[in-house]
Parts: sequence; C-alpha cells; structure tokens
Amino acid sequence: MKDLSLVTEKFTESVIREMTRICDAVGGYNLAQGFPDFACPREVKEAALAAIRDDKNQYPVTFGEPELRHAIALKALRYNGIKSDPATDITVTCGATEAMIASLRAIINPGDEIIVFEPFYENYGPDGILSGATPRYVKLARPDWRYCSDELAAAFNERTKAIVINTPNNPTGKVFSRAELEEVASLCQKWDCYVVTDEIYEHILYDGERHVSMASLPGMAERTITISSLSKTYSVTGWRVGWAIASERITRRIRKVHDFLTVGAPTPLQHAAVTALGLPEAYYVSLAAHYREARDFIGGVLAAAGFSFALPRGAYYILTDAAVVMRRLGARDDTDLARKLIETVGVATVPGSSFYADPGDGAGQVRFCFCKGWETLRPVAAAMAGLR
Ligand code: GLN
Repeated sequence: MKDLSLVTEKFTESVIREMTRICDAVGGYNLAQGFPDFACPREVKEAALAAIRDDKNQYPVTFGEPELRHAIALKALRYNGIKSDPATDITVTCGATEAMIASLRAIINPGDEIIVFEPFYENYGPDGILSGATPRYVKLARPDWRYCSDELAAAFNERTKAIVINTPNNPTGKVFSRAELEEVASLCQKWDCYVVTDEIYEHILYDGERHVSMASLPGMAERTITISSLSKTYSVTGWRVGWAIASERITRRIRKVHDFLTVGAPTPLQHAAVTALGLPEAYYVSLAAHYREARDFIGGVLAAAGFSFALPRGAYYILTDAAVVMRRLGARDDTDLARKLIETVGVATVPGSSFYADPGDGAGQVRFCFCKGWETLRPVAAAMAGLR
C-alpha cells in the first residue's frame, strides 16, 4: 500500500499518555500524567448538569459562547493584566492543546523557526512538526532552571517566527520572572517575533511567586497569544475547554483553524466554565495550599528515596535527577527506570527523555506529578519507602 503521511512518521506517540495506559493496566499509582484524582468544585459540576438540562446541547458559537468569552476577558484583565475584546480577541478551544496547535498553524509558514525552552512539555515537539516549524531549543539548566542569556539571544535570527513559553513550567516547575520575560520580550521586538504562552498553571504557584503574563508587558499584547484552560485550575482535565487570547489580527486566523479542526469546545461545559471563572478568591487560595502541601510531602518522599531536584516554584511536577536510584535498581536509562518503578513500587512516572529533543539529555531523569489527593499521596509514600 502507499505510504502514510511523512509528517506523522516524524513524531512518536505520547509517552505521558502511554504511561497512564500502562499504569491503569497494572493498577498502579499514576504520578505520570498530570491530572488531579480528586473532585472538581461542586458548583462547577452543578453548572454543567444545569446547562445540559437547559438544552445547551447543540453546537456552540464556533469561537466560543459569548458568556464565556466575556468571562474570560474579565478574568484576563483582573488576573493577568491583559485587555481583550471578547468579540474579536478570544477563541475558545478544545483545551490548551488545541489552542497551541491552532495558534502555531495560524502563524507558521514553511521555513519558519520557533524557539522552545528545553526541557519542554512533550506536546510542543509534535506541535512544531504538525505546524511545519523548525524548532530551536534553549536549555533551562539545573538546579534552578535558569537559561543562559547569550544562548537565548543566539537562538533568534531572521527566520524566527515565535517563541513558546510555558510559565509556570511543565516539567521543571520554573516560574519565569518579570525580568526574564522582559528579556524575551525585547528580543521578540528586536527580531519581530510572536510569543505563544501556555499559562495553564497560572494559579498554581508556591512560596510567594507571582504569575506574570507576557501580554501584560508594554508593547507585547499585539504579538502575544496567551493560552490557558479550565483543566488544571478547576481540576476538569477531561472537559477539554481552553482558550487563546490574541489581537484581532491574529485571532481571525486562529478562529479559522479552530473552526475547521474542531468546530467548538463542548457547549454545556462552556456554560459551566462561566461558573468556574466566577469562583471566589478563596477557591484559588485553597487549591494552591493543597498543592503546596502535596509538593512538600512528595518532595520529602522523593528526597528520602534518593532522587535529587529543586522544589518547583509553580505547576505540579518534579523533574528529578534519578542517577542514585537508577544505580541502586540497576536501571539502564530513564525508560528502564520508569518500568522498574511501576514493577517494584507500583508508581508510574514519565521518563525524562520525553521532555528533550535528544532523548539522551533526559536519560538520567524521571518526572513525578503530585496533583493527587491524600488517598493517593500517602500510599505512594509507603510504597516509595520500599526503594530505600
Ligand atoms: N499536561 C499533562 C502532563 O504533562 C498531561 C496533558 C495531557 O496528557 N494532555 O502530564
């Protein structure tokens, strides 16, 4: 038979999602895929049920129900300092995942380069390939995941179309400071590039960190696409409701891609999203407080087991240097260690190579997520004690 597409030959299946399937098959603890295993807020569930009962069950406005775009604009102004017109600047998508690929498709031409900080969230690799961009990687270095300013500046050239920024960052837990974002912004202005920011962990911050949105920096709104979603903030990763905020000029293109890719995100869940975005401040405080306790708890467990890492400043992952544990268990590399961790203690992780263009760069690392309730975290601690 004739060949299938060359593009889909160039990337592998998601290791993160594969780890979930393996974990489910053996009944392990899933510290691999970053989704909460506790309930989402009750009022958000009720709002979804009410929307279905109220017959909000047909196609939505393709680029988002008006009530939701309005709520997103209010939230973006209040929390992110981003001014947007719900009529022209917001596209509601099937999760941040669709927002990212639709945004890249909206701006990339053949020959364009995108800059990605590495390690990076697994999806950005295939996103680049599917949109036709050539990626250039800028390293975030241990222990505190800083980048080198010279390396960053050297990554820009006349072919650079965009830089992808994920802050708070998956998998490192880095939170980009205002000064770092200003440095990126000035390079983007110098080289006339766009910024695509994935801010899905914007409410999950520790130790007094503050979230800074690139689009709120002077002169950056017109060249920044700001992506977020309900998934992580409201613990509804299966709902697939996200959004992209950008100038009217860019949004027009994103909406075209989005319309033909998916038509729209689920209508009743968009209406429930309005309720979610209206939750009181106390909700966000208690979410971050739970994750801080979970971070400190799992951090203690991993340190005792022999993993090295800096505690994350945001998001809910710990990317560990696993050399000591690998030696102890006789693991050849990160993938072998991930397999051994499931087999010996029933804990699923993500091999570090999933976050690097060159798998060898992550061969000594594994990622743990801690976005779980105490019914999972406590038994994980007991199981991991078996590694000592
Ligand atoms: N962001 C999550 C992670 O990195 C998973 C996202 C997904 O699988 N769609 O684990």
